[in-house]
Formats: sequence, structure tokens, C-alpha cells
Amino acid sequence: MKKTEIELFGLIGYPVKHSLSPAIHNSAFKKFNISGDYSLYEKKPEELESFFKGLDDSDIYGLNVTVPYKEKVLKFVELEKEDVYLKIIQSVNTIVRIDSKWLGFNTDIPGFEISLKENFNPANKKTAMIGAGGAARSVAYVLAKSGVQEICIFDIDKIRSKSIVSMVKELFPNMKISAVDSIEALNIKEKDLLVNATPVGLNKEDPCLVKKGMLHKDLFVYDLIYNPIETKLLFLAKEVGAQVSNGLGMLLYQGALSFVLFTGTDVAIKEIVDEMRIGLNEGIQKLCMKK
Ligand code: NDP
Repeated sequence: MKKTEIELFGLIGYPVKHSLSPAIHNSAFKKFNISGDYSLYEKKPEELESFFKGLDDSDIYGLNVTVPYKEKVLKFVELEKEDVYLKIIQSVNTIVRIDSKWLGFNTDIPGFEISLKENFNPANKKTAMIGAGGAARSVAYVLAKSGVQEICIFDIDKIRSKSIVSMVKELFPNMKISAVDSIEALNIKEKDLLVNATPVGLNKEDPCLVKKGMLHKDLFVYDLIYNPIETKLLFLAKEVGAQVSNGLGMLLYQGALSFVLFTGTDVAIKEIVDEMRIGLNEGIQKLCMKK
């Protein structure tokens, strides 16, 4: 039974304290005059089961899901028939209550795809990825479905990069994809696209995983990190004349697509993204003032 007039939404993960998702979603609720409130649900792994079991009796109507629960959430939700590939990708970042059922979606996938393709056409290109965690699974899926020529992945945990190879092979049996043992073995000099899907670069003192000499001017470098807006990797890439993108576009598109799923609004994605960008900038300013 509904307890309040306002429908609640939010982000579940652990940790989530510093997330800017409330800033972008609440800004959109306000701008488009939709009743809703977005907040953070930081839940420890041992709290997860009871949290999901209690959702039906709550005023929560939709959630984004982040690290480390994008895979675990699959057991609490249903998937639409056309989305069953998400079971293979093992990643759901949005869940929505529809007709008393909880349905799972992944908006990281179209979020990354739209953002990447704004500046780079991956078809027939040679690609390299660093990192094979949750976000990397969505990235690898987008690259494979976009018909890249090859994907080469490095992660310090080879079990994870091999798991992405198996996932892609299951969905795209003819895709040329390999897991390598070092950054050097990615052979970035021969690649057209490099994606950083590790958290390395989030902190000022983080090293740059790639040496400047490995980069080249015809490369496109996409770093999933959006705060800072220019990581050391992007700085070096620009220095050699490469094209670059940070993860802001992905963040905003996945957020806007989740917002549409949450609210059913017919406001154009572009308009939602523009508003969320304003909310994000305000959120970043607030964070800076707190520091
Ligand atoms: P995960 O922790 O799931 O995955 C990160 C992976 O990178 C892990 O397998 C990790 O291994 C590996 N890794 C860490 N350090 C290195 C290294 N030095 N060399 C190679 N591999 C390494 O994180 P996510 O996939 O969820 O997120 C990755 C990044 O993408 C984060 O910075 C996140 O903020 C960003 N992101 C951005 C989004 C956007 O909208 N722009 C959306 C989602 C994520 P290990 O665990 O062993 O350290």
C-alpha cells in the first residue's frame, strides 16, 4: 500500500555516499514537474536480501543498481523477453516496479553506446579495453554488437577478462576477442579505440596505466571516469593528438534512460540529458564546497 504521495527512487550499492545520481535525477524531477524523489540506499551485502524482499511494501518504484550488485540483483527481478541476454551479460543497473512486478533493465549499455557513437564509429575498428568488471561487460557487449574487428582486454584479474571473452563468444560466436596478460600486450599502437573501464584515475594520486609512448594520434580514448573530467590518461592522449571522451556522456545517457523507465515520461532524452547536466554541475559544486 502506498504510504506517501511522492514515488521514491534511488540508487542501491555499497558504497554509494559520493554518488551524483540524486543530483541528476532530482534536477530532472523538478524541471519536468514530475512527482518523485531520488535518494541513496547504501546497503551492505548482508542487508541485500531483506531490502529486496521489503520493496513491495515500500514506496520505492524504481532503483538504479551499482557496484557490487549489478549481477546479484538478477535473482530478485524478472526480465522482458527481449532482454534475456542480460542474464548472459550478468548486469542490471535499473529496476522498475511495473504492475506489481519488478523488471530489470540495463541502461549502461545504450548509455555507453550513444555516448561513444557521438564521436566515434566503432564498426570494423580494432579495440582495446583495460578493466573487466561490471561496466566493462556492458562496454564489451556494445563493441561486439557494433561489429568491431577485434576486442583485446586486460584486467589484473584474468579470470574476469576471460569471463568477458566467454560472454562475448556466447552472444557473438564469430567475434575476435582475447584476454591478454599486460597493458603492453594490448598493443595499443595498432588499435583504433582504447577504453578505460577501471577505477584507476578516480583519485589524483592514481598512476596512469598507459605510457605516453603507447598512444598515437589516430586513437580514440574513452575513459569511463567522469570525475575528474580529465584523467591522466585523457591528458596524455590529448598530448599525442588523440581524440578523447570522458564518462560524462555515458553517465547522463544512462541516467536519462533510467529516468524514462522510472517515470514513463515522453520528454525527449536530449532534453532530460541537458537538465541532468545542470543537476550534475550543481552536484559537483556542492561536493567541492564540502571538501
Ligand atoms: P569494477 O570494480 O566492477 O571493475 C573494475 C575492474 O578493473 C576490476 O576487475 C579491477 O580489478 C580492474 N582493475 C583495477 N585496477 C586495475 C589495473 N591497474 N589494471 C587492470 N585492471 C584493473 O568497477 P566498474 O566496472 O563498475 O567501474 C569501472 C569504472 O567505470 C569506475 O571508475 C566507474 O566509476 C566507471 N563507471 C562509469 C560509468 C559512467 O556512467 N560513466 C558507469 C559505470 C562505471 P580488481 O577488482 O581486482 O581491482
